[in-house]
Amino acid sequence: MTTFSDLGLSDEIIRSVSTMGFEEATPIQQETIPLAMQGRDIIGQAQTGTGKTAAFGIPLLEKLAIDSERIQGIVLTPTRELAVQVAEELNKLGQFKGIHTLPIYGGQEIERQIRALKKRPHVIVATPGRLMDHMRRHTIRLQEIKIVILDEADEMLNMGFVEDIETILQEIPEERQTLLFSATMPRQIQNLAQRFMKNPEIIRTKSKEITVSNIEQHYMEVQEKLKFDVLCRLLDIQSPELAIVFGRTKRRVDELSEALTKRGYSAEGIHGDLTQSKRDSVMRQFKDGTIEVLVATDVAARGLDIGGVTHVYNFDIPQDPEGYVHRIGRTGRAGKTGLAQTFVTPREMDHLRLIEQIIQRKMIRKPVPTIIEAVEGQQRLAMEKILRVIAEEDLNVYKGLAKDLLEETDSVTLVAAALKLLSKEPGTVDITLSEVAPIRTRTAKRRPFEAKPYGRTDRSRRNNHWDKSDTKKSAWKPSSYHKH
Ligand code: ADP
Ligand code: MG
Repeated sequence: MTTFSDLGLSDEIIRSVSTMGFEEATPIQQETIPLAMQGRDIIGQAQTGTGKTAAFGIPLLEKLAIDSERIQGIVLTPTRELAVQVAEELNKLGQFKGIHTLPIYGGQEIERQIRALKKRPHVIVATPGRLMDHMRRHTIRLQEIKIVILDEADEMLNMGFVEDIETILQEIPEERQTLLFSATMPRQIQNLAQRFMKNPEIIRTKSKEITVSNIEQHYMEVQEKLKFDVLCRLLDIQSPELAIVFGRTKRRVDELSEALTKRGYSAEGIHGDLTQSKRDSVMRQFKDGTIEVLVATDVAARGLDIGGVTHVYNFDIPQDPEGYVHRIGRTGRAGKTGLAQTFVTPREMDHLRLIEQIIQRKMIRKPVPTIIEAVEGQQRLAMEKILRVIAEEDLNVYKGLAKDLLEETDSVTLVAAALKLLSKEPGTVDITLSEVAPIRTRTAKRRPFEAKPYGRTDRSRRNNHWDKSDTKKSAWKPSSYHKH
């Protein structure tokens, strides 16, 4: 076991990790931290949930000069949610060193960000488009940057940020250190590394095991029209503590969360068309358990670290194998087990096989649950509630009334009535979702996680874009144009 003290860190950082409850460094942290502290450029590839933020965050924070007035470190992330989350983690890690990290993302008023920038953050965590806005306005200067980190680099490329990233990297002094983290290593990332990094050390942890073994992966062949009823039955049978349902488009997410609410589930949707404050409040409610079912697009949930998600439902099969891996990675975190359930329409079965082939895992086929099973599931839940109350609560004040009731009716009828009251009966509200076309398999054969990325790379076809202001094409040209 490698502790953080073994890694030769400052007392302040050791104190912050122990306050955060970290005992042992994760494999990617053990390998990345010492090399990065020596100043090496690093390409890190590791599963989600393996602690990549601290792996780059700790060396970043250790290198900063606390009394400098300039921004010395930049982390680029694909989405604003991730920017906020990474900045939060860095602020926690840097709390005893007095290092201040600011998230900078599209969608938030730029004036407000400019005011926050005047407070002289040491580090910013930014989405590429918004960072470009600030560069154009000269409200962020990159001349003193000592270290740059690209987090979720493959996703940034899939979202079409490649030119922005190149422009940004060209603007930062060459003497900097560059760290790049990515779940996958498509050719484009290798190119980027070749152009902008200096003799990078590649760190892969457990690269063989692409999906996590503590996630049970099931699939069901379901007709498009029946998917919604099947989802409701599964929710009734499995009664997840916290579930994420993935839909393909923003519209789909809206329709699904509305439909689930009509059927009596506490559900909310999250995607890029919602206001920032709405999204924040949905995430908060989901994290504290007020909402049981979060309906999301891929991009909305990418990289988010939400503890306690027990079930992931792929209402629509994901387009890309990477997407699949990322979606199911929302559950089974921190060593807990999770269940991922994918709906596949008959015409999408080839696509499912392709995903299995690429992730090198078989999903287990499950029969579509019947309505009877759903009813039984809810009844079982009601029974468990009653048994728990018997075991844990003081019932004396209710016993008088119970005896009165038993004089009017027999005990079996009485308990049956209680069970009925406690059971959620299958919803009968009619739901019609908009039609969607099945996903089609691309015919070209590709080797696992190599060659071209599976994701869309051109901006025009990008769907569910999360960060509206980041989609603007920029007319800005770098002033000093130097290649590495
Ligand atoms: P990744 O970027 O690889 O998906 P994160 O950096 O988001 O992973 O970390 C996932 C979770 O694990 C976070 O809640 C983080 O605080 C926690 N974590 C990170 N490192 C450790 C550690 N060494 N021990 C325990 N928890 C950790
Ligand atoms: Mg991460």
